[in-house]
Amino acid sequence: MTQDLRVAQGRGYLAIPGPSVMPDAVLRAMHRASPNIYEGELLDMMEPLTADLRRVARTKHHVAIYIANGHGAWEAALANVIAPGERVLVPATGRFGIGWGEMATGLGADVQVLDFGKSNPWDLDQIAEELRADAGHQIKAVLAVHVDTSSSVRNDVPALRAVLDEVGHPALLMADCIASLGCDEFEMDAWGVDVMVTGSQKGLMVPPGMGFVFFNEKAAAKRSVMPRVSRYWDWVPRANPEEFFQYFGGTAPTHHLYGLRAALDMIHEEGIEHVWARHQRLAQAIWAACETWSENGELRLNVTDRTFRSHAVTALRLDAPNGTALRNWVQKNLGLTLGIGLGMAEPGDPARDAFFRLGHMGHVNGQMIMGVLGGIQAGLSALDIPHGRGAVEAAAAVIAGR
Ligand SMILES: *Cc1c(COP(=O)(O)O)cnc(C)c1O
Repeated sequence: MTQDLRVAQGRGYLAIPGPSVMPDAVLRAMHRASPNIYEGELLDMMEPLTADLRRVARTKHHVAIYIANGHGAWEAALANVIAPGERVLVPATGRFGIGWGEMATGLGADVQVLDFGKSNPWDLDQIAEELRADAGHQIKAVLAVHVDTSSSVRNDVPALRAVLDEVGHPALLMADCIASLGCDEFEMDAWGVDVMVTGSQKGLMVPPGMGFVFFNEKAAAKRSVMPRVSRYWDWVPRANPEEFFQYFGGTAPTHHLYGLRAALDMIHEEGIEHVWARHQRLAQAIWAACETWSENGELRLNVTDRTFRSHAVTALRLDAPNGTALRNWVQKNLGLTLGIGLGMAEPGDPARDAFFRLGHMGHVNGQMIMGVLGGIQAGLSALDIPHGRGAVEAAAAVIAGR
């Protein structure tokens, strides 16, 4: 009989950057018979639900809901304000910025990408230069990914607003907060964001399948002069429905709505500022561990400057193939699933096996993060991957507030 030392039995932990860990309260809320979609509770839920969604986004303006993932929310937002042939500027800091730009290309937009690579934040001077050069105001929108989940870069959205204002450029500021809403500080109205997209399966802790597009009056005005908007993506009836079905352009995502209700209750009970602070503290613990491992070791954080690191996802690299080896080891032996590297190397390139990511978004607390870090520590030891000593202690000190 071979000796099996694996300790993977027990509750698994999916520590990838979305879908995130689902709270039991969300799962319980969804576990019910199909509700009536013509009258009663489900219909009555909608007004408070959309009000509480707007509270998370920190906006007084509008929200449209789609049965879609984040890619659907990307397309929905663009379809309402960008006509074929119109130009958009995409300052990209990873795969997701590039991806939103590709979505715009697919809709016939003229897409101008400013690629800042895979580990740096936006260069605001360069963006200002591009906007200034556009004296005729051909650029109709700037597609700004707040946190790029592939690189884990967190961009400075208010600073980008300031650039647009300084230059006096009227382009819409459109933000992708799919990886950041409900994790990182975000203030749609105070930061002057015109359109914001997010999804259900990250900071909002609900299964994938709902996309949200928030928009203000400036964006609504642009929508009203569009030559045409497809009926399905049109945000007007969804944001101001006369009939219940118009919220969703058809049948409601019944069970997702109950899950979302439970998730929003959790967020507002904790308080959104506290949610941000919790993610920040947990991220700092992760950074303390990773920075310690990287002393005389192989492991490196993808983003060097703490100012520009996400509080919800961390992208890391080891020497290939140790990223993949580590992921496989903790999965098999510990029941811990880490995220794959995304967009960092081309398919077929052995460098693909150098990267991995930690998701620490949504329903995560100190013991879960210490568990992830302890698991990685075990994997580094088991696989004989060179690493600095004292990483888990360094993280514990942050959690302990020392
Ligand atoms: C996850 C994510 C997306 C894509 O969302 P899907 O639900 O996978 O379509 C887009 N942008 C960002 C920043 C994301 O984190």
